[in-house]
Amino acid sequence: MKRVFSSHNAVLVHHSRNLLEAEGIETEVRNQMLSSAMGELPPAECQAEVWVVQDNDAARAMDILRRPPPAGPEWQCASCAEMSAPQFTQCWKCGALRISAPG
Ligand SMILES: [Zn+2]
Repeated sequence: MKRVFSSHNAVLVHHSRNLLEAEGIETEVRNQMLSSAMGELPPAECQAEVWVVQDNDAARAMDILRRPPPAGPEWQCASCAEMSAPQFTQCWKCGALRISAPG
């Protein structure tokens, strides 16, 4: 098990995990529950973390996570109208799934 990503932003953590799983890398997310206890624990303890199960996937996983975000316009959340960066598949604000504009 190796940690390849950590963030206070649960959406980013999930996004990273999705990227790795899409590449066939087995992952685990840790500390997810602690994130909701923010304020009662030191901040470093509240970060959610993405771990790869196979140590020899770690280098490839880091590589995938360092890829530049896909080019493209920001998109608007259908639920809360917030703008999100193109690499996100979920709204960073409310977590709604990205829905492609018709046409
Ligand atoms: Zn939203």
